[in-house]
Amino acid sequence: MMRDAAQFNPLDASDSRVTRPAFWGALPERWTSEVEETLVCCHVWQETHDVKSFFLRSPQGRTFSFEPGQFLTLELEIDGEAINRCYTISSSPARPHTISITVKRVPGGKVSNWLHDNLRPGVSLRVLGPAGEFTCARHPAPKYLFLSAGSGVTPLMSMSRAHHDLAEDRDIIFVHSARTPDDIIFARELELIASSRANFRTSFVCERVGARTDWSGVTGFLSLPLLKLIAPDFMEREIFTCGPAPYMKAVRDLLDEAGFARERYHEESFSFETLTAQAEAPVEQPPAESSVETASFTVTFAKSRREIQCGARQTVLDAARQAGVRLASSCSQGMCGTCKVKLVSGQVEMKHSGGIRQREIDQGMALLCCSKPLSDLVVDK
Ligand SMILES: Cc1cc2nc3c(=O)[nH]c(=O)nc-3n(C[C@H](O)[C@H](O)[C@H](O)COP(=O)(O)OP(=O)(O)OC[C@H]3O[C@@H](n4cnc5c(N)ncnc54)[C@H](O)[C@@H]3O)c2cc1C
Repeated sequence: MMRDAAQFNPLDASDSRVTRPAFWGALPERWTSEVEETLVCCHVWQETHDVKSFFLRSPQGRTFSFEPGQFLTLELEIDGEAINRCYTISSSPARPHTISITVKRVPGGKVSNWLHDNLRPGVSLRVLGPAGEFTCARHPAPKYLFLSAGSGVTPLMSMSRAHHDLAEDRDIIFVHSARTPDDIIFARELELIASSRANFRTSFVCERVGARTDWSGVTGFLSLPLLKLIAPDFMEREIFTCGPAPYMKAVRDLLDEAGFARERYHEESFSFETLTAQAEAPVEQPPAESSVETASFTVTFAKSRREIQCGARQTVLDAARQAGVRLASSCSQGMCGTCKVKLVSGQVEMKHSGGIRQREIDQGMALLCCSKPLSDLVVDK
């Protein structure tokens, strides 16, 4: 049969002129940062006055596979300086064609401000990951309590979106704290999920009303009496918490006061203060056991011309901290890639958790947070 333009029916799948978006067919292959590290920004959305969501896609149209709550590490070069930063994937793993991160501008912060000012559709980013263990996927439970403050909402938002998309039969109470009602990230979407799922409830707690005159919600700080009002059965729930260090301490304190079992409590910190405090905390030396284990090696930081001693059982990052050498680091578990360096010479034993690619290891790179020296080292730092 002859077909002409007038007869063309775009809904007729047997017509070879009908083109379908790739995502209508079988799912394309998964994106993996081991193979392709570049993602392209395809959309930017202003969430609040100082928070934007950036949507990323694979240039090859690959799909993303991750657990809700996991993070990506962005590898950027800003003003000639290589900088890594972690950002949680805020989107749902059940929508695998794009991925989003949601970033709060941090006053004076290098990367968050760069992203807000420069990342727009068409711009490519080098990305590592996904990584991280802060996910309800690894802690199945019939009832959850999500507690977040500020940008700490992102991992819990990904978990909530997944719960909604997959129509899960779990009971979730999500309590989010913000400075003012205008600072609540994802307010409308959380309310929408709550309005369409009987087993999902959300509550917002604002420090103060700010410029809004129509706020009828709770003001003040999250406290044990308030938590008991919002979630009377909180002791039966698996709890996930993310937010600034003081908020998380307050949550831990109130849960301890209630006698909540720590095994069912999970938290993640994004906070610079916590990371700095961890970095400056004295590192305990493990007890010596044998001459091999008590061996000590010299680590030379070539650029800063510092030289330190590092025990065979100590990570280079711990030894550097002890010696007062400040190095960029974040997760301290070999996941985020923030402490990646080039080893000019020497050998290390490295037990990483996905924060470095095999190709980089082959090129002599190492993560200092999970590398113990096997010889004297020279590091390009
Ligand atoms: C696992 C993980 C997930 C994360 N997810 C998110 C997320 O979803 N959304 C999000 O917004 N953030 C997230 N973060 C935080 C994010 O990685 C960055 O830390 C944050 O965006 C700030 O980075 P920055 O480069 O803008 O600030 P930085 O340049 O690191 O500065 C941070 C603050 O420290 C101050 N500062 C910098 N250097 C010094 C110094 N030498 N002495 C004293 N003060 C200094 C700055 O003025 C600023 O106030 C996450 C972090 C982790 C570890």
